[in-house]
Amino acid sequence: MNHPSVAALLAVLAAPGAWAQTADAGAAPAKVPSFDIHAMDPAANPCVDFYQYACGGWMQANPLPPDRAVWGRFNELGDQNLAVLHGILEKAAGTSAPRAPDDQKIGDFYASCMDEAAIDAKGTAPLAAELDHIRDIQKKSDLPWALMRLHRMDANAFFHFSPSPDAKNSRLMIAEVSQGGLGLPDRDYYLKDDPRMAKLREAYRTHIEHMLALAGYTPEKAAAGAQAVMAIETELAKASLDRVARRDPANVNHKMTVDELNTLCPFLPWKMYFARIGAPPIDTLNVAEPDFFRGMQAVVTSTGLEDLKTYLRWHYIHSNAELLPKAFVEESFGFYGRTLSGAREMLPRWKRCTSYTDRSLGDALGRKFVDVAFPGDAKRRTLALVHQIESAMRTDLTNVDWMAPETKKQAFVKLEAVANKIGYPDHWKDYSTLRIVRGDALGNTARAREFHFKEQIAKIGKPVDRQDRGMTPPTVNAYYDPQENNINFPAGILQPPFYDDHADDAVNYGAIGVVIGHELTHGFDDQGRQYDAAGNLRDWWTPEDAKEFLQRAQCFVDEYSSFEPVPGAHLNGKLTLGENSADNGGLRLAFMALMKTLDGHEPAKIDGFTAEQRFFLSYGQLWCQNMTEQAARLQANTNPHSTGKFRVNGAVSNMPEFGQAFSCHAGQPMVRNPACRVW
Ligand SMILES: [Zn+2]
Repeated sequence: MNHPSVAALLAVLAAPGAWAQTADAGAAPAKVPSFDIHAMDPAANPCVDFYQYACGGWMQANPLPPDRAVWGRFNELGDQNLAVLHGILEKAAGTSAPRAPDDQKIGDFYASCMDEAAIDAKGTAPLAAELDHIRDIQKKSDLPWALMRLHRMDANAFFHFSPSPDAKNSRLMIAEVSQGGLGLPDRDYYLKDDPRMAKLREAYRTHIEHMLALAGYTPEKAAAGAQAVMAIETELAKASLDRVARRDPANVNHKMTVDELNTLCPFLPWKMYFARIGAPPIDTLNVAEPDFFRGMQAVVTSTGLEDLKTYLRWHYIHSNAELLPKAFVEESFGFYGRTLSGAREMLPRWKRCTSYTDRSLGDALGRKFVDVAFPGDAKRRTLALVHQIESAMRTDLTNVDWMAPETKKQAFVKLEAVANKIGYPDHWKDYSTLRIVRGDALGNTARAREFHFKEQIAKIGKPVDRQDRGMTPPTVNAYYDPQENNINFPAGILQPPFYDDHADDAVNYGAIGVVIGHELTHGFDDQGRQYDAAGNLRDWWTPEDAKEFLQRAQCFVDEYSSFEPVPGAHLNGKLTLGENSADNGGLRLAFMALMKTLDGHEPAKIDGFTAEQRFFLSYGQLWCQNMTEQAARLQANTNPHSTGKFRVNGAVSNMPEFGQAFSCHAGQPMVRNPACRVW
């Protein structure tokens, strides 16, 4: 489901294609430790560069593996989870004994993906039916039928169609169409006039040409086709709303009737498109970016039919590249993995196939993961921590001096209404209507995608199901959903280094405590604050308080914009504002909760560190990572999350309590003056 306003703890690199997914693994990884003194660099000065102090040892001991563009402690845990999933799948793939229906599905899905020889032997035959459909398009008015089929199979052609809670009535799911259709990570990649982007554009064009040639185009036609795709996507990029503008919910909320959409973008007979794609009756919907649909109309009008057909073919092939013969897989990795992200090698196939199975049959696999890897007590203990962090937020809201009582009152109502979803769903998905056939890798994926698409659009016109989860149970991540006003912690993250049964409080509060505080703070960041307790887009702020808020937020914008992860690429303080606010707020709330738990008692030092020091070190070490230069640029350009170093140094340097814990003094880099603070 396309859910633009969900604010997560961490986003994968925003490259399209499968190569930048996070869930990946090494062979049988060891248990990831929580706070680890060996990860530190004791020679570094914590008051000068705390990140180096907390992570220097880890960064030196963990050079980037050749098959990674980013390698950090999140990935270490991701590896561990993936190894668990791998064990489950290898067992489920065995056919010597009768299998339960879900085991048959996950086992055969995985086995089909693993069978490279069978995939190679079939060549492009599995693509033929859809490519024939596209070939047979005679006139532009036939395009909707192809689009409909491609959208059901999750191909990124032109735009997205999905359900979304009504911005002003968050209990109701309505239909939404939103911008899409690009194969590069962002509109800037098409439009920015600089040598690095120009080089990437050329590499992308060459990649399209190679993929079309693999699919049977003659060399001349492939070259001309790639040119045509670039021209279409460049026009779509021009019509697209940029990432910063999209962060403001008002900019992506334009409810209109289907008739109005028809006027805006008449090439598509929308009523028929919605009906034939299987959606419930739709009268009104959210057209997230009207200008994009206007632009799309212009592109379709001005482009020849053959070029439009090539564009559809490209997106269809691209969206299936990972389950096509070796030459496609390698070509796709060459651009999205090597060129765009800087990885040197492909992940081993079992890691990729395990991730695809998680993506396609998340609940069937996740259910088994929870049985193996999520002890029953973890849910209860996490919930207790959540309540402590919520209580810290209550205290914090009570104490802030810049907010008027009437705004505070509404903030309390919102805080009390936050729901918690921990571990795994109460009800698991029923996959009985999804057919998974051993030996049909591409067909399995297509059917799984159609299954999910059908499941999603069936929600249109119905009340929002707040039990739905946006992440599968093994995911190492967490999120806040402003339209549901809930925080979500999949089982995958409730393990060391985030949560460790055997660690002292300081270490757990510095890790999972900060994560909980981070998600909670999202409800009150520049985006989340625009939604009320019920998840409706409604302004509950007095104008004076809104002004005070924005002034404080601007301090973060300026701070993080000054950070330069690689030469020439600064962080975008506006794009990362929500995440940076959440990091800063989360760190403070977790620290307050720890202080309350300690209740004035200073526990004995452990490993030579006070509880306060261990708290900050535990936080710092969550973000230990190494990354390629390309990945750092990609993240700075497209990702709402700052890179690890700045998530750590940016947040601790705003907390006087950090300076006190490490006896820093005014003027040192980790003692920011003035310190930024919203919450
Ligand atoms: Zn976040």
